[in-house]
Amino acid sequence: MRRLSKIFAVCAVTLLILVVTGAYDAISEKLHFYAAVARLYSQAPDSKIAMPLQDVSKKVIADTWHAPRGVGRLHEGQDIFAPRGTPILSATNGFVYNIVENNLGGQTVSVIGSGGRVYYYAHLDSYAPGLQVGDRVSTRTVLGFVGTTGNAQGTPPHLHFGVYTSNGAINPLPLLTDRSAPVLTRNKPKENKSTRTIVSRKT
Ligand SMILES: [Zn+2]
Repeated sequence: MRRLSKIFAVCAVTLLILVVTGAYDAISEKLHFYAAVARLYSQAPDSKIAMPLQDVSKKVIADTWHAPRGVGRLHEGQDIFAPRGTPILSATNGFVYNIVENNLGGQTVSVIGSGGRVYYYAHLDSYAPGLQVGDRVSTRTVLGFVGTTGNAQGTPPHLHFGVYTSNGAINPLPLLTDRSAPVLTRNKPKENKSTRTIVSRKT
């Protein structure tokens, strides 16, 4: 009995220390993240995902899935070309899984979505300010901006977009769907004007 109360006291003191130092908040935040990710694994993967760049239409993407890339390497994704600095929106709901710089991808963000699928965004010019691992994202969340980091240096700016299942990469192209223009911009003449400006700048 005395031993039990001793264990209880140790637990209570440990908990108190965690709460006082703020570590409890960090730990519970982590646990929430892990629980949410575990929940994602129990869901079916998204059969349709949103185009990561607002104004790019699926039909302009040249299918480069599994195109040879150097010796013994195949292109495990799609390249979506757009002016440097174009905002990259998450293609899915989910959580930021990884923010890391590597030789091929340059500055990259990975998001984990339903079914535990990981969506990989690479060659970012910069990250969305304040973006952190564990952040909940929706298809309206900006992850970063189009650039040429990693092995895209010297190429026209583009987003490399990859989709990874537990069995490896799959072709993102059949999953992608164009984003429809927001309803508000369609109805307001003022907003239409700005849309026109963007279009004319592009041509
Ligand atoms: Zn690529």
